[in-house]
Amino acid sequence: MTTEFDLITKEDILEILRMPEEQYRAVLAPKAKAVHIETNGNTLTATAMLGFSNICRNRCLYCGMRAGNAIPRYRMEIPRILELFASAHKQGLRRAFLVSGEDPGFAFDSLLKLVASLKDQGMEWISLACGEFEKSQYSELHDAGADEYVLKFEMGQEEVFNRLNPSTDFRKRMAAIRSIRELDIPLASGDIVGYPGQTEEMLAEDLLLMRDLGISWAPIIPYMPAKNTPLALEGGPGRLDWMWKVISVLRLMMPKVNITAQQPGKDPAEGLASREGNLAALNAGANFLYADLLPASQAEDFRVIDHRVTLGLDHIREMADVSGMVLTF
Ligand code: SF4
Repeated sequence: MTTEFDLITKEDILEILRMPEEQYRAVLAPKAKAVHIETNGNTLTATAMLGFSNICRNRCLYCGMRAGNAIPRYRMEIPRILELFASAHKQGLRRAFLVSGEDPGFAFDSLLKLVASLKDQGMEWISLACGEFEKSQYSELHDAGADEYVLKFEMGQEEVFNRLNPSTDFRKRMAAIRSIRELDIPLASGDIVGYPGQTEEMLAEDLLLMRDLGISWAPIIPYMPAKNTPLALEGGPGRLDWMWKVISVLRLMMPKVNITAQQPGKDPAEGLASREGNLAALNAGANFLYADLLPASQAEDFRVIDHRVTLGLDHIREMADVSGMVLTF
């Protein structure tokens, strides 16, 4: 394997994915963690996250919020969204992550207004994940104050993508992703790790695609089956050992990238707030946790996956303490 990690090849990635667990833990994970410390300080970044609408017109085969799934649906009004972020701001949070399904009922103009109002309210970094738009619309969102756009490619193989995402297609998704980069807007993107049928080769290709896209943030988690979805019938959950290795490969390939540490552990019921899972991710080189702003009564309804459970800022502070990392907002 090359020691120049920015020259990492598909074979290098496969070597890491196939590495015995003990060797990975003894050598690769500490190396990735050291790269994070050297490059970014030993920082843990906290972001306020809100799923403001769980209505979606699409039918991705892996998603619990796919159109037609019988779950309680909601769409928040702008004043309520601003109120929740105002309370996050009071707690010291300065980064906002706004996420929704592709909700035709949330007008594009409202989204522009929401982004601009959040900026006025003192949010310093706004990441948006609201699906596929035209290039001109990404530009308008950026002008309104969105600092980063989140659009995952989910799986980097055209045929597989088209089967699992029947409401769009791979070329359209990649064109949208590339248009964000062409506009020089920071792009958060990535895949699902360990969904049924994904091979080590496919995972390695996805990692190289993340690098080639020059992503700013990898909002990735392992595949977690969601109730009443077609893909849940095919298997899962995704392998945690792959997840940790993926985090380390990303850190070694892209030292500055943000990597989600909101990861599950061995007990799926603990969801993405698993202390064990979060700590393992931080030790593998991840650096990014969410404070979920959804009121408890709605938290379960934003169910892209089952057990999406995340916690608030207290949990993030605790993770900073146990990992010995410096919390940044
Ligand atoms: S993954 Fe996103 S676009 Fe696909 S069904 Fe779920 S919310 Fe909609």
